[in-house]
Amino acid sequence: MMDIQAALDCLVPNPVCELNFQTPFQLLVAVVLSAQCTDARVNKVTNSLFQKYPSAKEFANLSVDELGKEIYSLGFFRTKAKNLIALSKSLIENFDGKVPCTMKELTTLPGVGRKTASVVLAEAFNIPAFAVDTHVFRVANRLGIGDEKSPDACEAALKNFFPKENWAKTHLQMVLFGRYTCKAQNPKCTDCPFQSICKYFQKKG
Ligand code: SF4
Repeated sequence: MMDIQAALDCLVPNPVCELNFQTPFQLLVAVVLSAQCTDARVNKVTNSLFQKYPSAKEFANLSVDELGKEIYSLGFFRTKAKNLIALSKSLIENFDGKVPCTMKELTTLPGVGRKTASVVLAEAFNIPAFAVDTHVFRVANRLGIGDEKSPDACEAALKNFFPKENWAKTHLQMVLFGRYTCKAQNPKCTDCPFQSICKYFQKKG
């Protein structure tokens, strides 16, 4: 039986989150902005955005038009602006302006689902969580770990498969492996250590 964690450790030895942030709030904003967009593009925008508006207090006072102008290059900018202003207001009203550190509380915030909450828990608070984004979902299914029907089922399968102390690291390894090697289209299968267990590779023949 192949040791998937050991293979990931070889492929991605020191995984780091590619979004830039200095506070849990800034990470939360960056993750919301990263929907349907690359981390590199998000960083370009947030570098100046966080200097102008560093916390929930400043975001809560922006109009959708004002924030939309700052983030329009990232796609879906009106929805993202509305959610970021609403979640900032909710943080001020319900959490004393601070980002909460439980899945239950995080997912009460507008536009925040399990994936976003899991990234914040793991990266900002060092609390074990396994975020399932499009890359993790695809890689898990190709390796036969996840349930291909839903990200929630996939998250449960991954949490069962990998030890809890590794969840944050393994999540990042799967994101980076999926982003740069095991891509949705034309994955770089040559020399991939997972060929013998990969459903995609075996189907391709
Ligand atoms: S063999 Fe190809 S599709 Fe399968 S895990 Fe490796 S890179 Fe991904």
